[in-house]
Amino acid sequence: MTSCSVPVLTSKEVVEAKSVLPADWRADLTQPASLDLQPAVLELLRRTTSRLPQDIIDALVAGRNAEEAGSRGANTLDTMIENVVLADDHGAPLCQDTGTVIFWVRHPLGISQRRVKAQIRAAVAEATKRSWLRPNCVAAMSGKNPGNNLDPFFETHPVIHFEEWEHPTVEVQVMLKGGGCENVGAQYRLPDAALGAGRDLKGVRKCIIDAVVKAQGQGCSPGILGVCIGGDRVVGYERSKELLLRKLNTENPNPEWATFEQALLTDLNSLGIGPMGYGGKTTLLGLFVEELWRHPASFYVSISYMCWSSRRMVLRVEANGTAVFE
Ligand code: SF4
Repeated sequence: MTSCSVPVLTSKEVVEAKSVLPADWRADLTQPASLDLQPAVLELLRRTTSRLPQDIIDALVAGRNAEEAGSRGANTLDTMIENVVLADDHGAPLCQDTGTVIFWVRHPLGISQRRVKAQIRAAVAEATKRSWLRPNCVAAMSGKNPGNNLDPFFETHPVIHFEEWEHPTVEVQVMLKGGGCENVGAQYRLPDAALGAGRDLKGVRKCIIDAVVKAQGQGCSPGILGVCIGGDRVVGYERSKELLLRKLNTENPNPEWATFEQALLTDLNSLGIGPMGYGGKTTLLGLFVEELWRHPASFYVSISYMCWSSRRMVLRVEANGTAVFE
């Protein structure tokens, strides 16, 4: 079997031609009261559901070419890459599960978070109506589905994190987090007697290996891990998920953690779990670690697992009002 080359996705021009955002759309960031981000967020969702980021595609192809020719690992990655091309060609969701929709919004002083939240929710409801998103938001106990991906209490779906910043631009990052990979996330409290894990680097390593072994055959590997050490239970999980926005092959700014990430990634890929747990060398595409401050009595290791269908994208509204999708 020949090696696989990086597939050519539809050109920028074709993507632009299918845009639901009018070409002359401009936001006036100097007039926050009349700012309407809904059309730009709708376009952001359209692109995110069907097009995998290039760094993920490159990593899938590199993983495919590292597997034994004709093996189940290589065949599984071939199918994933074929799926990437089909979704892009047809503008169709990359996976039947379009995930929990999570936003991170960064904005300058003066923009109403309440208004932006309503605009984002309207965009999510419209994207669901157009079948770009599956209705994935249900009542916890009854399972009742409103059908529009909006929880009626404006709290849990879509998830929206806001931050005011000093820049004159607005940035909206979105992640579609599948339910299967969310289920294999884990949080450890050290020391952990069952794992023999203490409050040190060896202990952290044991937690990460344990989480990957337990995720075997679930969560749709090859995956990407976001690992947050420290914080409280909530912040630890939040930050571990936010780490999954990092592009693959971007170096950890802390050289010690960069070395740790690389060494552990190599070790985890030698476990033989492979794509979808069918065996092989490609269990993980990436591993991101961050260390936070903590309460002296608490030591958490929080791990978020992202599947190979790692859908994320950024909408940046520039100071001149133009929208850029990256
Ligand atoms: S874990 Fe990811 S690839 Fe698997 S079904 Fe869910 S969204 Fe799809």
